[in-house]
Amino acid sequence: MALEPEHAQEHPHHHGAHENPFVPHQVSITKIKAETTDVNTFTLAFTDPDVRDEYEYSAGQYNMVSLPGIGEAPLSISSSPERRGEFEHTVRFVGRLTNAWAGLGVGDTLGIRGPYGRAWPLEEVRDRDVAIISGGTGIACIKPAINYLVDHRDTVKSASVLYGAKSAAELVFADQFGSWEDRGVSVHLTVDKGRALDWPFHVGVVTTLFEKLTVPPSEAIVMMSGPEIMMRFCVFDLLERGFSPTNIYLSLERRMDCGVRMCGHCQIGPKFVCQDGPVFSYDEVRHLFGVVA
Ligand SMILES: Cc1cc2nc3c(=O)[nH]c(=O)nc-3n(C[C@H](O)[C@H](O)[C@H](O)COP(=O)(O)OP(=O)(O)OC[C@H]3O[C@@H](n4cnc5c(N)ncnc54)[C@H](O)[C@@H]3O)c2cc1C
Repeated sequence: MALEPEHAQEHPHHHGAHENPFVPHQVSITKIKAETTDVNTFTLAFTDPDVRDEYEYSAGQYNMVSLPGIGEAPLSISSSPERRGEFEHTVRFVGRLTNAWAGLGVGDTLGIRGPYGRAWPLEEVRDRDVAIISGGTGIACIKPAINYLVDHRDTVKSASVLYGAKSAAELVFADQFGSWEDRGVSVHLTVDKGRALDWPFHVGVVTTLFEKLTVPPSEAIVMMSGPEIMMRFCVFDLLERGFSPTNIYLSLERRMDCGVRMCGHCQIGPKFVCQDGPVFSYDEVRHLFGVVA
């Protein structure tokens, strides 16, 4: 088994091509911000200044993040890649490892391997209408793409964010929506209050925002993240409205242990979500979503 993953050759500036990809680099927590009752954003900086200077990532990539003695998990990088020296992870506390994160404070350290994975196709958005569709904590992985649209709004024809969560209290990054709007990115929100919270019902609510999408569908670029059932309903609705399967991109989440195409846990047919994804065009993964009429 080769110790050198493909990505190390493609991106030699990421931690050096000759390093063992399984050895994490230490980061320390410089800031913690509560987003909701069970989601925090952690700002992190590498303790080694050389690594800090070299570390680069693209919007949509993730890190394998570890707490010694507890475990490791994939987490999307939620900050803008244009910000150097520090980066952010936005974490929902769901289990053994992430609940341990809930007890961390400024100055505590973590291990980071990465960045890994395929990014959002921002090279394709120039002069296009761009729609971001997201649900729940899924907005963490797509937030760097939103940051890009906010910072480069003049390079795209239009930019909208359609975002849904179960309740207003569960909307992540709520304090930033106003500044996105101020800079020309329209934000449309939906929450599902007080009714039965099964997924199909929740998803129905997100798709009702689609009437806000007044752009001509055939050339528009759509980037989507959230629960897979939500993305399924959204994709089918978009296709009916005339959006193209090759212009709809989505980020998939799978259990993954290595991040470097070795362990096989995240394999879907010939594709490894850890490196061929997590961002795919709908066209590439349509078999996962069943037959589309
Ligand atoms: C490419 C990628 C990017 C990711 N980015 C992020 C991110 O930016 N922020 C983030 O919070 N998470 C993200 N995740 C999910 C994150 O990796 C898991 O939540 C984490 O591994 C859970 O580890 P744990 O040990 O805390 O939970 P475990 O102890 O392994 O799981 C405890 C329970 O929680 C359930 N569970 C696990 N994951 C989730 C989940 N995502 N949602 C709901 N229930 C879950 C399990 O099924 C289990 O029942 C990402 C996953 C992938 C594959």
